[in-house]
Amino acid sequence: MDCLFCKIAAGEIKANVIYQDDTVVAFEDINPQAPTHTLIIPRKHIPTTLDLTPDDEALVGHLCTVAAKLAREKGIDAAGFRLVFNTNRDAGQEVFHIHLHLLGGRKMSWPPG
Ligand code: 5GP
Ligand code: ZN
Repeated sequence: MDCLFCKIAAGEIKANVIYQDDTVVAFEDINPQAPTHTLIIPRKHIPTTLDLTPDDEALVGHLCTVAAKLAREKGIDAAGFRLVFNTNRDAGQEVFHIHLHLLGGRKMSWPPG
């Protein structure tokens, strides 16, 4: 499959990987939008959140608990952070393998642009 994030998960394309286990991989975003900008992805190829099935619920929960663990390790837990799944065009999704953005280290505005 010609998917950038499948290749990063497989180690075929380099990334700054900061966590991995049997089902997920976390690495630093190549174009960070905040002092912390980490992407947490499943090893399984799932194009968008619209493609999730009930079988994926534990996996998506795991993406969130890994994100929280990384936020603690980075020391942005108390100040706060943002977790984002962009989906399709209006959200600006560019890579069609789901990824949870962990953004923090600065004050963020709401609503997002
Ligand atoms: P999206 O807009 O799809 O939600 O987010 C895709 C993210 O992947 C962007 O923040 C972009 O900077 C990041 N990205 C795209 N290509 C690469 C890459 O080759 N390596 C890494 N580490 N991040 C990438
Ligand atoms: Zn993929």
